[in-house]
Amino acid sequence: MPEPKGEAAGLDLTGVSHRYGARLAVDNVSLKVARGEILGLLGPSGCGKSTTLRLAAGLEDLQQGEVRIGGEVMAGPGGSVPTEQRHVGMVFQDHALFPHLSVADNIAFGLGRLPAAERRQRAEYWAGRLGLAAHIDSYPHRLSGGEQQRVALARAMAPEPRVMLLDEPFSSLDSRLRDQIRDQTVEVLKQAGTATLLVTHDPEEAMRMGDRIAIMQAGRIEQVDSPDRVYAAPATPFVARFLSETNEIRLRVTAGGRVESPFGALPAGALPEGSEALLMFRPEALQERETGHGLALKVERATALGAYRRLEVSTGMLRFAARLPAGPLPPTGTVLHFGLNPDFCFVFPAA
Ligand code: ADP
Repeated sequence: MPEPKGEAAGLDLTGVSHRYGARLAVDNVSLKVARGEILGLLGPSGCGKSTTLRLAAGLEDLQQGEVRIGGEVMAGPGGSVPTEQRHVGMVFQDHALFPHLSVADNIAFGLGRLPAAERRQRAEYWAGRLGLAAHIDSYPHRLSGGEQQRVALARAMAPEPRVMLLDEPFSSLDSRLRDQIRDQTVEVLKQAGTATLLVTHDPEEAMRMGDRIAIMQAGRIEQVDSPDRVYAAPATPFVARFLSETNEIRLRVTAGGRVESPFGALPAGALPEGSEALLMFRPEALQERETGHGLALKVERATALGAYRRLEVSTGMLRFAARLPAGPLPPTGTVLHFGLNPDFCFVFPAA
């Protein structure tokens, strides 16, 4: 992927590390977010996502590495630009609106230097963009959680930041509303051409909103790629497991660089003959075949999950999770036949 340069430069982190006492929370992280791009920073709780975002914002003193915004150094060995001069917008899970200010005044909060009429005009514009026009003179306690979160986004967007930093901004919202606000947020950010770093522990959120996803574990970035690539070509077992439930079998690599799975032989990539491999496959890799084709598996459990069915199936020795399109649930004990779709199978060296 070409590197953003000059005008296209948004946010650049290079070789950033951070310790809290003896604990290394961020370990040599380099990330680039181009203008107009949304990068999802995804990982489990405690892996260092928020610290990375806080370092980009200047809310945490940089200990090692460099932070640039729009190509200009914001923090590095030579010193640090304070948060309020970095032109970053921020939205957190706890949206922290000012309770004593109206929606209009909340949105206009960061526009201190503009004349009052222009502040009001900009507040009205952003309230309109985010469907808050009817609430412009309301106070935050009169708004729903979703409306409050949209005010927080409008407040962050109004000063036209170069970089937007979002830290779990939708976690407190219920799921249908959350989808709506996610889509609306993407639209607003894309139209403004803002470089956005979105911190989330939710793979679906990262995939729905991100142009690219950086997957983080224990302070390190494991993979940066498009949502379809991280899902279909995970770089590590951790990435594979973090994005969905997985099935796993340990196998030895045979002559010809293959692993003999119960479903048939699969290529083992570059793994040497005789080495131990970990075959991983996603539940949707299991595809039902006609009787007489594929591996016979007994249904141990079947659950309807709306658009699809989750089946637990077993050989007696091995148990797998399968994901099939919605339909009637097979009774426990039914024998079904399955093959593997190689597109959702991954072979790694066994740890
Ligand atoms: P995430 O956002 O992925 O949940 P954080 O960046 O918040 O992760 O935290 C990374 C690690 O640093 C965690 O182990 C956390 O406990 C620790 N940590 C975060 N903030 C502080 C702090 N202010 N003081 C000490 N340790 C902290």
